[in-house]
Amino acid sequence: MTSTTVLSSSFRGVTIPGKMMTLRRLPSGMPVPKFATWKDGVPDLAVMNPEYFRRALTGRLCWICGNKLGRFAAFVGGPKSAASGHYTEAPCHKECAEFAAQVCPYIVTGKNMRRAVSAEVCEMLETGGDTNNPEVFGITISDDWSFDRSTMLFSLRNVVEILWWKHGRPATKEEACRAAVLGHAAVVALAEQQGRPPSTVRSFLKDGPYPKQVSAA
Ligand SMILES: [Zn+2]
Repeated sequence: MTSTTVLSSSFRGVTIPGKMMTLRRLPSGMPVPKFATWKDGVPDLAVMNPEYFRRALTGRLCWICGNKLGRFAAFVGGPKSAASGHYTEAPCHKECAEFAAQVCPYIVTGKNMRRAVSAEVCEMLETGGDTNNPEVFGITISDDWSFDRSTMLFSLRNVVEILWWKHGRPATKEEACRAAVLGHAAVVALAEQQGRPPSTVRSFLKDGPYPKQVSAA
C-alpha cells in the first residue's frame, strides 16, 4: 500500500461507517474488525483476540471498530440471546453492527460460531448458534448492561430497540415475529428445565420482536 492509496468508503455496495475507516483492510477491501486474531499477517475472524477483549472491556471500546462506545451499545446475537439478554460477544456501535449484519460472513450466513468463551457456556446459552432459527439475528440496543467475569457473559438490564436481520438484509416483520416466538420459547424452556417457576422467567421478547424500553425485573 502506498501513501497515495485511497481507501474505498464502501464494501460490496455497503457504506463503511466513518468509525471503521481506520481499520486495516483485507485484499477484497473489507475492513478487518478489531476483534480478529492475526497470524502471519492474515486475520482470522473466527477467533477473537483475547488481548483486545480485555482492552475493549476496560475501555468500553467498540468490538468492531475500536472506538469508544457512547450511551448506547449494540449486541449481536440469535433469538435466544435477544430474549434472555445474555451475550458472549462484546458490544459495538449500532452502525458498526449494521455494517457487519450486511457483510460479515458469520452473520450473513447464519453461522455465527465464534467462540469467545468456553464451549460449555456457548452450549448452555446457544448464543449465536441458535439451532432453532440460525438465520435471523437481532441487533439489540441497550443503555444498561454489564459484564459478569464469573460467567464471562454480558447481561442486559434494559433493551431500547431490537433490529432484526436475515441474510444481509433487514428481516421482514413475519421473520422477526417468528424469531421472537422461538427466542422467548427457548428461554421459557430453559427455565422449565431448571425447575424455575414461570414468574421468574425474564424475556425481552415476551411481547413480540420490537420491545420498547423494556425494563428487566
Ligand atoms: Zn464501532
